[in-house]
Amino acid sequence: MPFGEFRFPSMLGAFDARRIPVLQTDVLVIGAGIAGATAALRAADTGASVLCIAKTEFDEANTAWAQGGVAAALRADDSPGRHAKDTLLVGSGLSSPSTVDLVVSRAPAIVGWLQTLGARFDRANDGDLALGREGGHSTHRVVHANGDATGKEIQRALALALKSHPRIISKIGPFVRDLLVQDDRCVGAVVLDGDRELAVHAKAVILATGGAGQIYRETTNPSGASGDGHALAFRAGAELMDLEFVQFHPTVLYIAGASRFLISEVVRGAGAVLRDRAGERLMIGVHPDEELAPRDVVSRAILDRMVATNDTHVYLDLSGVEGDPHQRFPSISRICRAFDIDIARDPIPVRPGAHYMVGGARTDHDGRTSLPGLWAAGEAAATGLHGANRLASNSLLEGAVFGATAGESAARETSRGSLPHHEVEAGDPEQAAMLQLDDVLYSLKSLMWRQVGLGRNRAGLAEAVERIGLWQRYVRRAHATTRRACELLNMLTTSALVATAALTREESRGTHFRSDFPSRDDARWCRNLCLHRDRDDRIAVQPTPLRQPSDRTQELP
Ligand SMILES: Cc1cc2nc3c(=O)[nH]c(=O)nc-3n(C[C@H](O)[C@H](O)[C@H](O)COP(=O)(O)OP(=O)(O)OC[C@H]3O[C@@H](n4cnc5c(N)ncnc54)[C@H](O)[C@@H]3O)c2cc1C
Repeated sequence: MPFGEFRFPSMLGAFDARRIPVLQTDVLVIGAGIAGATAALRAADTGASVLCIAKTEFDEANTAWAQGGVAAALRADDSPGRHAKDTLLVGSGLSSPSTVDLVVSRAPAIVGWLQTLGARFDRANDGDLALGREGGHSTHRVVHANGDATGKEIQRALALALKSHPRIISKIGPFVRDLLVQDDRCVGAVVLDGDRELAVHAKAVILATGGAGQIYRETTNPSGASGDGHALAFRAGAELMDLEFVQFHPTVLYIAGASRFLISEVVRGAGAVLRDRAGERLMIGVHPDEELAPRDVVSRAILDRMVATNDTHVYLDLSGVEGDPHQRFPSISRICRAFDIDIARDPIPVRPGAHYMVGGARTDHDGRTSLPGLWAAGEAAATGLHGANRLASNSLLEGAVFGATAGESAARETSRGSLPHHEVEAGDPEQAAMLQLDDVLYSLKSLMWRQVGLGRNRAGLAEAVERIGLWQRYVRRAHATTRRACELLNMLTTSALVATAALTREESRGTHFRSDFPSRDDARWCRNLCLHRDRDDRIAVQPTPLRQPSDRTQELP
């Protein structure tokens, strides 16, 4: 069904392949976080020539910011079946069981592969890998590095492997502006490299552009997480899924002037508790698992208490943590110390922030999207693993598992068309000169936080859909072609997709909470919402029955 008044023609108005330099490669990988780097390495190992492009430095990808770790059933008393069961439970009935089985059964091998690349994970006294436990996991199964700096170590190892692979060219800095589509097949991309434009012509394109936390005022994500891949896939005509599910992390450092640094769940797992300004614990009586309840439950409890106490945040109290918190959580200790907070003594001011995009380009088990020639992996993809909510530490795992299958599958692809040509469509320079991009950006982030955040309802969502549509129309009219303007357009597109999906789903499930439909409604909504661009360039929403029922409770071996 067509929805709203959005129109999303390609941004390729000014592209003419005859006039700009053209690069050729077998596989173009967009993104160099865990999904993109893994895809590039596996495609190259399969024999393809690979060009891997990332707009940000390696240490600015979400991957490098990950703290807790990678989930894998490695203990004798654990099994992939148990890991699957925990994943399905948190997914609230919308996960694809076959995807879950595939991912959890490959998890131990993925940890081993990362080690062969040189990633050094923490070890226990007996020499085995040390395994942490996080909310939603029924046992210890989270592999970590340097305490709370797992992502940095994984990204370090991946970056070294990328740079040294003879069949991979990696370029840090260029920005992929749009995908090239010809005869309903993705055949490459247009890239902004400083002031110049390039076309990359590829047999296969892998989208691994990460998340979109930056569409919200409060987020744990680095500045590059602007949902570019979601918007690129949508404009190119690929199907997206599960966009209404945005995971909010309950405990993000909240100090004016400090970036929104995540205080990992592991800290609550180690015994830290949440208190309000009067020192009262706020999770008691809310959920049997108290501070380790699912993230959406803790996030909403914090928000409710902030409203009740008329405060901008609550406090995380580490005084009950066993051992020296400075040694156990060195990164958190360092950041807090910079703001005069001694985590062993002072409670840490925290509030929720947007953390993880469950939805993305819909993919199959090979990472293929619905658009031939285009694969997706990592946070830009929707594989069906997470359902309506993500189990902690399953996303690095998912990025590596599907990065690998997408890389291998794309490398086997052989067909290649010719480069498409586009007519020039002029922008309106007067409109471009009048446009204050930052103003639109901050208005968008505030709107998304207020109306499409933790608590949603029809009136707020409808307002968001309408306003984003308006902003999108006049930003587009200016036809701005700088990276900043393109990112803003991508953020508007991704926000429109999230708001539209959230308005459509009239129930509460997983991360998606509607105050006007506060219960889960399996009869109507036990299905995924798929979105695509219709012939009039508008968002069409298609509720899709689950491929398999996902309420399985028995364990795999
Ligand atoms: C603070 C924090 C803590 C986390 N902790 C954990 C954890 O403990 N365990 C866990 O499993 N998950 C965790 N996550 C989530 C996890 O880190 C991400 O889901 C995962 O790293 C996503 O990997 P990715 O490869 O899909 O994207 P990213 O790592 O974000 O990489 C995206 C890449 O795409 C590039 N890119 C984007 N747009 C463009 C464009 N237009 N042109 C060119 N390049 C582009 C970027 O430069 C980057 O290289 C955490 C996330 C955050 C923010």
